[in-house]
Amino acid sequence: MEKDDRDVQAELIEALELYQAVLDTAVDGIITIDGDGRILSFNHAAERIFGYRAAEVIDRNVSLLMPEPYRSEHDGYLHNYRTTRRKKIIGIGREVEGRRKDGTVFPIELAVGEVNPPGKRVFTGFIRDISDRKQAELEARRRQDELAHLARVHSMGDLAAGLAHELNQPLTAILGYARACLRMIGAGSADLELLRQSMEQIARQGERAAEIIRRLRRYVEKGEIDRQPSDLGARVQEALAMLQHQIKAHAVKVRVNGTEGLPPLLLDSIQIEQVLVNLARNAIEAMTGAQVEAPELELVAALSDTPLGVRLSVRDNGPGFGDTAPDELFAPFFTTKKEGLGQGLSICRRIIEAHGGRLWAEPNHPQGAAFHLWLPLPTRNGNGHPGGRSAP
Ligand code: ADP
Repeated sequence: MEKDDRDVQAELIEALELYQAVLDTAVDGIITIDGDGRILSFNHAAERIFGYRAAEVIDRNVSLLMPEPYRSEHDGYLHNYRTTRRKKIIGIGREVEGRRKDGTVFPIELAVGEVNPPGKRVFTGFIRDISDRKQAELEARRRQDELAHLARVHSMGDLAAGLAHELNQPLTAILGYARACLRMIGAGSADLELLRQSMEQIARQGERAAEIIRRLRRYVEKGEIDRQPSDLGARVQEALAMLQHQIKAHAVKVRVNGTEGLPPLLLDSIQIEQVLVNLARNAIEAMTGAQVEAPELELVAALSDTPLGVRLSVRDNGPGFGDTAPDELFAPFFTTKKEGLGQGLSICRRIIEAHGGRLWAEPNHPQGAAFHLWLPLPTRNGNGHPGGRSAP
């Protein structure tokens, strides 16, 4: 039996109602737009997320829901897509920003699909408000940074003895030169040139002492986490300077290779130095603990192209890990030291991962331990992580 028009109409209405019900019960905001960016539909969740009633936005340009610079650029994106058909967001989920009716900007996860009914072009945007998730991520990162700071302050106990010793050298030299000057002046035979040279030495040694204090203060300061373009080679040098005393006291031979001329990376310098201090100090402790006759610490950096970044290896010729699987060392509270906290490596790994990198360990050949870290080169959109924020 043929359906009459009324049946078809009733079915159509039913289908439309069902479609509307699905849209309106969806948890995600669903917005459809035409090829010019005009809003065709706006479901309940979208109303809740953006604070607009559907009637207020239907027929208006979708860029209304975006902050700058996307707002001004969106028509251009659509135009580019029409002419090049190059998909920048269609079919791919992205984290972008939305703008509510009250003007607040908030993070959203956006997935865009394309529907092509005959003669038309319709895009569907699925939108999830991820403000809470972002806030939780921020909070987790803040705690992680606090933990890293606590670990630095804690490790200061061990480092302080070495640094105090380091400080003693310039101070002793200053005293020596000052006494010599006083003697010359006292004897009434002050040779001005000799005096000048001694004063110069005093100034130089004073600067050296100030440098040691500066390094120490900077290391334990609780600064804002700040990733800036930074030279990994300089971070290696700073970390080794912090450990100068331990290195000298145990006659550790240090070799550094490949750290010059590396491209800058986006780093929180202090945290990266903290990682390097930790790895190098663990190595020195392992070698001296096992009374290795000729302890050697090697830091080797190289560019890696798959994936694009810099790899740095810290190797020693200590006792290695025995039967322990290398990855176990990174578990919080894993320690084989009497006074150990077992936090160092787990914090190091978290720092490196927060930089978008990786940290792992393996036995060194022919002997000892090797820790490798890999850090990404900054991407074009300005962060160290692949695929950062970007607009459709
Ligand atoms: P802690 O130094 O407080 O023990 P870490 O997390 O820094 O904490 O290190 C955990 C454990 O990993 C150490 O106790 C040690 O057993 C092992 N380890 C770390 N570095 C080395 C190394 N270079 N050689 C051998 N063992 C190491």
